[in-house]
Amino acid sequence: MSSLHSDALEALRVRPGAKRPRRLRRTETLRDLVRETTLEPGDFVYPLFVVAGEDMRRPVESMPGIEQLSVDRLSEEAREVAALGIKAVLLFGIPATKDPHGLESFAEDGVVQQAIRTLKDAHPDIVVVTDVCLCEYTDHGHCGLLDDAGGISNDETLDVLRRIAVSHAEAGADVVAPSGMIDGMVGAIRGALDEEALQRVAILSYAVKYASAFYGPFREAAEGAPAFGDRRSHQMDPANAREALREAALDVDEGADALMVKPALGYLDVVRSVRERFPELPLAAYNVSGEYAMVKAAAANGWLDERAAVLETLTGIRRAGADLVVTYHAKDAAAWLQR
Ligand SMILES: [Zn+2]
Repeated sequence: MSSLHSDALEALRVRPGAKRPRRLRRTETLRDLVRETTLEPGDFVYPLFVVAGEDMRRPVESMPGIEQLSVDRLSEEAREVAALGIKAVLLFGIPATKDPHGLESFAEDGVVQQAIRTLKDAHPDIVVVTDVCLCEYTDHGHCGLLDDAGGISNDETLDVLRRIAVSHAEAGADVVAPSGMIDGMVGAIRGALDEEALQRVAILSYAVKYASAFYGPFREAAEGAPAFGDRRSHQMDPANAREALREAALDVDEGADALMVKPALGYLDVVRSVRERFPELPLAAYNVSGEYAMVKAAAANGWLDERAAVLETLTGIRRAGADLVVTYHAKDAAAWLQR
């Protein structure tokens, strides 16, 4: 090469100078040392779908790896979950019968109430969180009692939510998690629990829950699809972020012990802003069924490395500011992290 040519190349070369971020990425141990976000099995909450009946493990087709379980199969499931280092489960109940008022939701021998007792008897240390809503229990599939016009009657629904939360707490739940986005739900439940001397039971509020297309597979799992209409009259508009802070502030005022944002992946900006506005409260994010199903479908086709994609996703949710991640990947991710 002529010296004229190499001089010309030299003149074009840009040098980074003394500051070289790659130095800290050079080896695995260096990368470990400077990692900002941790991911551990103890960060996960594992959802369980409990069905009436016996000796049942019924696969949910749109959520490969997830099954509906009968109460008698919960104990073995909880043992597996605990052995993986996961500390908490979130219970959803699918009752034997549904009616317009969702009566089984607060029945003493309802499917979730039985599930709570079974889990706490077998594994007192596992944290049992329960979903408090009506959609799995009503024959119309809506999250509350309906008025004459077919809309959700907010304040009448609060009375039922109070009864559901008390019944879960009496059965032994550690945390109740109202998910219906009914105005005043946290205050109503806190009041009911305190009246019944159940002050020990915490409330994890689904404070910010969007009307999302990514709940589709869950509706198969929990058998709670609305028979008509949709949930946009109570769940939030996906376009709104400032409103999320208002929702969260109301729930904090009403006595929420912890907050949740749902879904997670399309709403990481919201996770971040709720984290910054309410730094004193634990924050959960729900990595929802549609997010799970997308990864599983792509992995099944060989289009994604499932393990890498899942761990990256869960780390991203933690990095955005979530302390806890409710995720169907919990068992797989915990096993990968333990290795
Ligand atoms: Zn609901």
